[in-house]
Amino acid sequence: MKLVKKNAAAPKPIMAGLLGKTVSRRAFLRGSGLAVGGAAVAGMMPGTMVKKARAARSIDPKAEIKQIKTVCGHCSVGCSTIAEVQNGVWIGQEPAFDSPLNLGAHCAKGAALRNHGHSKRRVKYPMKMVGGKWERISWDQAINEIGDKLLSIREESGPDALWFAGSSKASNEGSYLQRKFAAFWGSNNCDHQARICHSTTVAGVANTWGYGAMTNSYNDMLNAKSIIMCGSNAAEAHPVAMQLILRAKEQGTKLIVMDPRFTRTAAHSDIYVRFRSGTDVPLIWGILWHVFENRWEDTEYIRQRVYGMDKVRAEVAKWTPQEVERVTGVSGDALLEVARTLAENRPGTFVWCMGGTQHTIGSNYVRAYNCLQLALGNIGKEGGGANIFRGHDNVQGATDVGPNPDNLPGYYPINNVGWTHWSRVWGVDLDWLQNRFDQTEYDDGKGGTMKPMNTGGITVSRWIDGVLEDKANISQRDNIRAAMFWGHAPNSQTRGPEMKRAFEKLDLLVVIDPYPTVSAVLHDRKENTYLLPAATQFEQAGSVTASNRSLQWRDKVIEPLYEHKPDSEIAYLLAKKLGFADEMFKNYDIQNNMPTAESVLREINRGTWTIGYTGQSPERLKEHMKNQRHFDVATLKAQGGPLDNETYGLPWPCYGTAELKHPGTHVLYDPSKHIMEGGGNFRNAFGTEYQGENLLAEGSWSKGAEIQGGYPQFTADILKQLGWWDELTPEEKAEADGRSWTTDLSGGIQRVAMKHGCHPFGNAKARAHVWNFPDPIPVHREPLYTPRYDLVADYPTYDDRKVFYRLPTRWKSVQAKDYSKEFPLVHTSGRLVEYEGGGEETRSNPWLAELKQDMFVEINPADANDVNIKDGQTVWLEGPEGGRIKIKALVTTRVGRGTVFTPFHFGGHFQGQDLLDKYPEGSAPYTRGESTNTATTYGYDAVTMMQETKTTLCRVVPA
Ligand code: SF4
Repeated sequence: MKLVKKNAAAPKPIMAGLLGKTVSRRAFLRGSGLAVGGAAVAGMMPGTMVKKARAARSIDPKAEIKQIKTVCGHCSVGCSTIAEVQNGVWIGQEPAFDSPLNLGAHCAKGAALRNHGHSKRRVKYPMKMVGGKWERISWDQAINEIGDKLLSIREESGPDALWFAGSSKASNEGSYLQRKFAAFWGSNNCDHQARICHSTTVAGVANTWGYGAMTNSYNDMLNAKSIIMCGSNAAEAHPVAMQLILRAKEQGTKLIVMDPRFTRTAAHSDIYVRFRSGTDVPLIWGILWHVFENRWEDTEYIRQRVYGMDKVRAEVAKWTPQEVERVTGVSGDALLEVARTLAENRPGTFVWCMGGTQHTIGSNYVRAYNCLQLALGNIGKEGGGANIFRGHDNVQGATDVGPNPDNLPGYYPINNVGWTHWSRVWGVDLDWLQNRFDQTEYDDGKGGTMKPMNTGGITVSRWIDGVLEDKANISQRDNIRAAMFWGHAPNSQTRGPEMKRAFEKLDLLVVIDPYPTVSAVLHDRKENTYLLPAATQFEQAGSVTASNRSLQWRDKVIEPLYEHKPDSEIAYLLAKKLGFADEMFKNYDIQNNMPTAESVLREINRGTWTIGYTGQSPERLKEHMKNQRHFDVATLKAQGGPLDNETYGLPWPCYGTAELKHPGTHVLYDPSKHIMEGGGNFRNAFGTEYQGENLLAEGSWSKGAEIQGGYPQFTADILKQLGWWDELTPEEKAEADGRSWTTDLSGGIQRVAMKHGCHPFGNAKARAHVWNFPDPIPVHREPLYTPRYDLVADYPTYDDRKVFYRLPTRWKSVQAKDYSKEFPLVHTSGRLVEYEGGGEETRSNPWLAELKQDMFVEINPADANDVNIKDGQTVWLEGPEGGRIKIKALVTTRVGRGTVFTPFHFGGHFQGQDLLDKYPEGSAPYTRGESTNTATTYGYDAVTMMQETKTTLCRVVPA
C-alpha cells in the first residue's frame, strides 16, 4: 500500500491504511520506533536524547527564541532539524516533522547536533607548530606565512607540488569554490571523500546508463516490492533511511541482505546471505545464473533498452552453482531463493554501499549489480532502481560540483571542451588559466605526453605515494611537497604507517577544519605545520545535496565560534594572498570578505548544464525548505500550494533555467513520465553504434516525446536537422550556434528539446558491456590479499601499471606472495551509528562519545578460541604490511569463522600509543582509539583508484 500524504496543515494526517488507520507524522515516528526509542532500529538514540536539549544556562531567559531550520551535517539522508537560537546561542533543537525525508526522525548523531553550537573541543584559533609545540597565531600571520611558503614551493617545483583534499562536508558552494581554487592555482591535484567511498559507483553507473548517482530515492523504497542490499548496513550507517525500509517491510516488501557480517540490518531481513568478502561478482552472477536458467529476465526491456546483455549471459554461464559455492561459500539453493524472490517481487531496488565499492575491483562489483537490475527490468521505474546510499551529508554535491582530480564541476572533462566551457562561465581567458598550470608535459602512460591541465590529478587514496614515491616514477614535475587538508580526515585512508612517513616528509602541512583531526597528531613534525579553524556547516549558509539528488538550503544557525571562518572566506583570503582573487571571485557578491552563497550558487546554475544543476536557484530551494510539509512522502511531489507538482529539493537533473520550472527528477530514466514531469530514458553518451550494433533505444521513449525511438544527444546541428532551430530566440541562437546541450549557456537547446518532449541527453540503451573499462564485462579477480590463494591461478588480478593517475600502481606484484598462512583472517571494516567518517567531530561530542568508548574488533568465538582470546580482552590486530593496532576483542557470531570486523571512525592512538599530548590544548576528542587503517593494506581499483578497505588479511593475537 502506498503512503499518500494529504495536503493539510497541522495536525497532518499523511498516511492512511498502514495499520488500517490514518497516522500523523509524529505517529509515524512512534510507529517506526525512532523518535521515542523502541526496538525497530537497533542502535537508535534513546527517546530521552531527542527531546529538547537545552543549554544549562542561557544569557537572557526572556529574549526571543528564533527557530532556524537546518540540515544534519552527518550523513547523506538529509534530515532536517529545527535549531532554537536565543541571543545568538544555540540553546535547543526540535525535530522537523515537516521534512518528507525524515519526518522529524533523527539518529543519535542528528539528535546531538547542537553540540556543534558550543563545542569546546574545536581548534579555536589559528595555530602553528614551533619546535614541535602548538602556538596561537593570528589569521593574518597564518595566511601570510602559508601563502609565502606555497609561492616558494610553486616557484621551485611547480603548482602540482601542492596537493589538497577538499571536503564532502562543505556545502555545494564551498566544495565548488575548492575545485575552482585548485583550477586557479593551476592544478588538478585535489580530491575529496567520494574517491574512497563511491568513486567506483560513480564510474560504474555513469558508464552503464548515464549519470553517476542514486537512480531513485530513500523514499521511493516505499514503492518497492523487494529490496536487496549488498554491503550496506543502513541500520547503522543511514538509520533514518532504515525507517523507510522497515515501513516498506510492513507493507509486504521482501528484504534480502547479503553481507559477510550479520549486521543490525541483516537482523531485519527475510533472507540473509553470508558470503566470503571480496566475491561479489560470482555472488551476483550466481543469482543471475538462476534468472537466466528460469527465463526470469525481462526480455522486452532488454531488447528495447539494454546493449550487451548477451555478453553478460556468456560470462554468467561459467558461474554454475557449484563454482559459485566454491568461490563465495554460498549454496546454489540459497541463491535460487534470492533469484526467485527478486523475480516474483518486481519492481525491486538494489541498495549498495561501501561494502560493494571499496575493493580493487569495486567497479566490477558495481556493474554486476547494474547488470542484475537491467536483466530484471528494474531500472527507470518507481520502486526499482539502484539506491546507492552515499556517506557524508554533502558527498553527492561535492562529487557533482566539487574538488575532483579527474573532472570539472558537473562532470565536465578536463579536456579542451571542459576547460573552455568553465572559463566562459568564470569569465576568464582560457590561455590565462592554462598558464597557471605547469608548462611541462607529463607522461600519459601510453608512450606519449599530456598537458598537466588535461592530466587527472593524484587521488586522496594515493597522495602518500605522491610524497614518498621516487620522483623519477611520478608523472609530474616533482613530488608533492605541500598538502592542505580542508575538511578531510586522513584516518579514513589505508596504509597508516606510510601515511605517517608522508606527513613527516612534507615541506608544508595545512589543516583547515573545525577540529584538529588525525592530521594534526599522527606525525612527529616540528615546523611548517598549521591548523586553521574552519566554521561548521551551521555557521555558514549554503545548499547541500542529499543522496537522492535533492538540494536543500541551510540557513546559518549561529555566528562562527571563537576565531572560526567560513570556507568561502578562507578561500577568499588565501586566493588574495596567492594573487588570483580578482579573477576567481569576480562574479560574486562579496560581503564581509567573502562571497555570498547565493551568488556562488547562481554561478553553479549558470554552468552546470550536464547534470541539470541549472534550475535550482537559491530562491526555489528556499521555497522548498519553507513548504516542506506540502511534499508527499512516497513520491516527494508537492500536492497543491505554490510548488504544486515539483519534487522536493528539485533533485537533479532539474534542466533549463530556473524560470523554465523543471520540477526536478525523482526517478531517473523513467519513460512513463514526460520530461517536464521528471521523466526520462537512458543517456546517449557513447556514440550511436558500436561494432555495428545500435546503441540507441529501440521502441522505447519517454512519454510525450515527439521522436518515438532512440535519438542522439542534442546539439545546435541536430536542432537544425529537425527543423526546430527557429524556435530559439535570436539571443539564444547567437549563444547556441556550434554548441551542444551541455555547453550552450543560454539554455535554448535544452528548452527547445524539452518543448518537444525530448531528453536533451538523447535516448539510448544502457550498456551492460562497457568496452572502455579494463574488464568490459565484470569478471571475478581474487583480492590482492586473499585467504583463498588456491583460487589465484584461476582468477588473477591485473598486471602492474607504470602510470595510473600519475603514479605507478601494483596489482600482480602484490598478489605474487601468499600471506594467508601467516595472516589467516579476512579483515573487513565498516561504520557505527554513533560516529561518522574519520570520527573527529562525533568523537568530540560528549553525548556521542559516551555511547561507544573503545575501538574493537569483532571476532568469531572459534577464531578467538584458536588463539586463546576472551571477550573484552586487549589484543593486537596485525596486518601483512606491518601495521598493527591495539584494541579490544568483541567475541561474537556476527562475523563468520575466518572473518573479523573493525569500525573505521577511531583515531588518536597509533600502534599502542595514545597521541593525547600532541593535540592543541583542550581540543583532543573525548574518545580516542586506534585507526583501523593503520593495519590495512595496499590495493586500488583499476578504474578510479578506490582503496581496498573491505577485504584484506590480518591475524589477531593477545596483547
Ligand atoms: Fe539523519 Fe543521517 Fe543525520 Fe542521522 S546522521 S540524523 S540519519 S542525516
